[in-house]
Amino acid sequence: MIDVIVIGAGPTGLTVATELARRGMSVRIFDKKDGPSGLSRAVGVTARSIELLASCGAGPAIRAEAVRFEGMVMHHGKDPVLTLPLNFDGQSEIYGLPQDRTEAHLIDALKAQGVTVEYMRCMTNYHLRADHIEVEFGQHIRVQGRYLIGADGVHSRVRATAGIHFEGRTLPGHWSIADVISADWPHRDRFAGYLLPHGDVAVVVPMAPDRYRVIASRDDALKALPVPLTVDKLIRDSSFHIEVKQAEAYRKGNVFLAGDAAHAHSPVGGRGMNLGIADACDLAERLAEGTQDGYEAARHPEGHHAIQVTERARRMLQSRGAPKAILMAAIGAIDHSSSAKRAIVHQLLAG
Ligand SMILES: Cc1cc2nc3c(=O)[nH]c(=O)nc-3n(C[C@H](O)[C@H](O)[C@H](O)COP(=O)(O)OP(=O)(O)OC[C@H]3O[C@@H](n4cnc5c(N)ncnc54)[C@H](O)[C@@H]3O)c2cc1C
Repeated sequence: MIDVIVIGAGPTGLTVATELARRGMSVRIFDKKDGPSGLSRAVGVTARSIELLASCGAGPAIRAEAVRFEGMVMHHGKDPVLTLPLNFDGQSEIYGLPQDRTEAHLIDALKAQGVTVEYMRCMTNYHLRADHIEVEFGQHIRVQGRYLIGADGVHSRVRATAGIHFEGRTLPGHWSIADVISADWPHRDRFAGYLLPHGDVAVVVPMAPDRYRVIASRDDALKALPVPLTVDKLIRDSSFHIEVKQAEAYRKGNVFLAGDAAHAHSPVGGRGMNLGIADACDLAERLAEGTQDGYEAARHPEGHHAIQVTERARRMLQSRGAPKAILMAAIGAIDHSSSAKRAIVHQLLAG
């Protein structure tokens, strides 16, 4: 019987499997997809994640390929109103890399530990036995392990099977996204944010040389931008809803939740994937050392804090009327205070 069964080969599952194998535990990791993802969902990788992934080798590989963000420029309509450097102290650095490339480096690190992802395996159920867990993949395939980790995303089957509530709400409306190639966008190594009428917001984030992610809180991200962006190639566009939810428990017996299976929030601040990587590293270390009893107490408050910080920031960015006037006054004051800038960056990106 193996030590740990991991469901889901997104960034969280890949990280926990790699870290468990690196610590000498036997692990199998399954995903219902037919192969590695080509989707570039998360862009921002924090310095903390790179540090956490240093020992397995993925951290340096990610940093070598990623764009290092120098800062952020916020606009009111077309007018710049706030510039924020992001590299105050080396701890608040953030890098841009499409999520599929981050996952590719994690898959390489996992392979270096002698483990490969078993694709086209959709977990359908699990059963608790006297001294192990039996996981079902359809009617004919069963795998036994001592521990089960649900790293299977927002709609986690592991969470549902465990009967753990995912508490919170889905925000009304949807956001739009476009990934583009553009040779002449001026902000090559910094976020550009735009506060728009009616509480809308748009952001352009560098992902790779000449490649950018545009996100807006309304339809058609490219049309929402108040300034022209030359699109040499549209790589993809889509829309998404924002869920603001957290699992009421991160553990039930020997079944654990990590990453989006445990928490979901808006992409403001670029935290989701990074939070999942931190869950994964913490859980792997605890399982290897036999201190897993402390996992929930350590990680549930971190998830709660991230949800609070990102929701506060999202609500502020989307404010209108009097709160928007207060926001604009605050932005004016912050633009003249390097200590206020440092505090904001630390709040948004730490962890
Ligand atoms: C538009 C957008 C932009 C974002 N930008 C950022 C950003 O800049 N920075 C950031 O940190 N985060 C960002 N995020 C969030 C980030 O993408 C997620 O937090 C991250 O992917 C979570 O990783 P995960 O491994 O926990 O889950 P997922 O990436 O969702 O992976 C779960 C895996 O489980 C598999 N799976 C599901 N059910 C089963 C089953 N029953 N059996 C087997 N396999 C199963 C799925 O196929 C999937 O591969 C963004 C998200 C969106 C939508």
